[in-house]
Amino acid sequence: MHIKEVVLDDFKSFGRKTRIPFYRDFTVITGPNGSGKSNIIDGILFALGLARTRGIRAEKLTDLIYNPGHDDDAESSGPDEAAVTVVLDNSEGTLDRGQVVSAAGSENVGDVEEITVKRRVKRTEDNYYSYYYLNGRSVNLSDIQDLLAQAGVAPEGYNVVMQGDVTEIINMTPYQRRGIIDEIAGVAEFDEKKEAAFEE
Ligand code: ATP
Ligand code: MG
Repeated sequence: MHIKEVVLDDFKSFGRKTRIPFYRDFTVITGPNGSGKSNIIDGILFALGLARTRGIRAEKLTDLIYNPGHDDDAESSGPDEAAVTVVLDNSEGTLDRGQVVSAAGSENVGDVEEITVKRRVKRTEDNYYSYYYLNGRSVNLSDIQDLLAQAGVAPEGYNVVMQGDVTEIINMTPYQRRGIIDEIAGVAEFDEKKEAAFEE
């Protein structure tokens, strides 16, 4: 499974609908400072619900909505809504069709070779709302998380290596580093289950 495309719509600096293609093996994004490279990564974290532990760079969700006056610290006069869509290539069947059907509903699934995860954030006068969609159907964050866990994509995982993570890993004790390997190999999950079972 890999990301095929990311579509940013009024998300952070992307005030125009922007489609970014990703290739199967390797994609590099280059550009001058402040051009929005990290905002694309923020968009992926936001859409896939990975932001909580991996630190998206925003104080509140509504800061993610495109604000034309952002650099002047102006109150937003722009749109009240932002959305990011991540299109996943599931042609290898990494994500189980049955689970996609149970989360998205059979009428919405269509071709499960392609899976779209979308998240919107919407500002109202005194509040804000956030919605997740799987192949077009409104779902809960837990539906997205359960599905992505099949591909080893998890908020506490190391699928996304953020700026500073490498330094942190270098400075860890060997025992702490071993913990990361356990996490990546999927052993940590069983250790946790074993411990929980012993406690019962
Ligand atoms: P660097 O090479 O320095 O890491 P980068 O390409 O990663 O740069 P980003 O951090 O992705 O750049 O983009 C920063 C830009 O995004 C800033 O100019 C900032 O003003 C803009 N930005 C962030 N949030 C918003 C927003 N809500 N509305 C408009 N622009 C925003
Ligand atoms: Mg950056």
